[in-house]
Amino acid sequence: MTDPRPLVLFNSLTRQLEPFQPVHPGEARVYSCGPTVYNYPHIGNMRAYVFADVLGRTLSHKGYKLTHVINITDVGHLTDDADDGEDKMEKAAAANAQSIWDISRHYTQAYWADIAALNIRQPAHWSIATEYVPQMIEFAKAIAGKHCYELPSGLYFDVGSVADYGRLARSHTEEGSGRIDEVEGKRHPADFAIWRKTPPGEKRQMEWDSPWGRGAPGWHLECSVMSGRLLGFPFDIHTGGIDHREIHHPNEIAQNQAFCCTNGLDVPANSGARVWMHNNFLVERSGKMSKSSGEFLRLQLLIDRGYHPLAYRLLCLQAHYRSELEFSWDGLGAALTRLKRLVLAVAQVRERAGDGGARPGPKFGDALDRFDAAICDDLNTPVALTVLDDIVGMKKVDPGEKLAAIGAVDAVLGLGLLTLDRAALRLRPKATTIDEAAIAKVLEDRRAARADKDFARSDALRDALSAAGIDVMDGDPLGWDWKPQ
Ligand code: AMP
Ligand code: ZN
Repeated sequence: MTDPRPLVLFNSLTRQLEPFQPVHPGEARVYSCGPTVYNYPHIGNMRAYVFADVLGRTLSHKGYKLTHVINITDVGHLTDDADDGEDKMEKAAAANAQSIWDISRHYTQAYWADIAALNIRQPAHWSIATEYVPQMIEFAKAIAGKHCYELPSGLYFDVGSVADYGRLARSHTEEGSGRIDEVEGKRHPADFAIWRKTPPGEKRQMEWDSPWGRGAPGWHLECSVMSGRLLGFPFDIHTGGIDHREIHHPNEIAQNQAFCCTNGLDVPANSGARVWMHNNFLVERSGKMSKSSGEFLRLQLLIDRGYHPLAYRLLCLQAHYRSELEFSWDGLGAALTRLKRLVLAVAQVRERAGDGGARPGPKFGDALDRFDAAICDDLNTPVALTVLDDIVGMKKVDPGEKLAAIGAVDAVLGLGLLTLDRAALRLRPKATTIDEAAIAKVLEDRRAARADKDFARSDALRDALSAAGIDVMDGDPLGWDWKPQ
């Protein structure tokens, strides 16, 4: 590779910034924990995939051949990340009087719609957990003898059987995990089920035969099996939200160690992946992120209120992925305005640039180098965005070259700047009772009223639009004549 600047990433396992060194030269293999499809994803969940997408795009930008896997958890995730509670999928199916398969199909489609709306690239594989159950049983059989024990409720993993259990979470088996141990007979509170037997006399919608009886796999087992099968141990990077650093990923790591017959996490690759990366949470003070509250923050809710989904992507990029990000409608509104400015400015460059085909040219060398430095600095998207602003603002440069430079940067940021136009950005909120053509007609009448100096009528027309959920914007510097309230 001609590019000498390494990509530096924060490894949660070592708690250090490390230059990325691929396991297979020239390649990057990445696994991201996917959603549990028992409900719609909230926008916090989607932050995890915007982050994974920027990581993937950055690896492509650095010249690596990317293989990205995201799973779909359609079995095994209990209402508690440890071993308590019911299977989230079984519970949702019972509550909606539907089959699990219908539930999972519906919410997987909804998740994929959000993925597309946020300009998140398709991974090489969407791995569906229920399609890997035979492989999960094989994996469990391979580690059962040395690392597991059977109880009436299932096959349990003995966390004391591997070295350095819990290092990722910085918790130790000796100190105890502090979790409530409700399963009688567990050797250690942190031991977890890798196979959950169906209780006698019960029938689950999703159950399979296994050497430990009819039942279903544990959630942690899924990710170990699908990541190992599709990417090979050790692979390069495993991602997830910061909550997974505490239970899910330490348990995956323990299984991987057992399966690969390796010990000791002083060598990070013994964990199954060389680098473990976690995005911090999107938080919202009033609790609207929680899926248990009626109107929770789904991407569709933002769209229904007139915010383009890519404004949410920009909101995510304005914060570093390791920082907590507080959601507010004002913040989202500010991100939409910033996106609007960018789209308007780039549209002008596009008009002047003609057919394209140009390359960035030496004038853009410094800016593109600063962009590369920012993104290689553990995906510093807030700084990378300021470099994008600089490029967009450059004067007296060839428009074709400028467009090429914007394209190179947007290939990583994924804001769709080369295709989005101003009209596409303005969404009519669902609650408005008036359509675009009618708004245009009222505005036309209002212009006529103002030309006649009939200000009473002009004001009345503005008020009528306001009552229909539309604000008139006189003299908007960005050239919009109306906006949703
Ligand atoms: P789940 O469907 O619960 O398995 O979550 C899907 C992904 O979203 C996981 O990587 C979680 O760690 C992540 N996640 C959950 N809540 C948030 C949040 N509020 N902000 C960012 N990521 C989250
Ligand atoms: Zn996972």
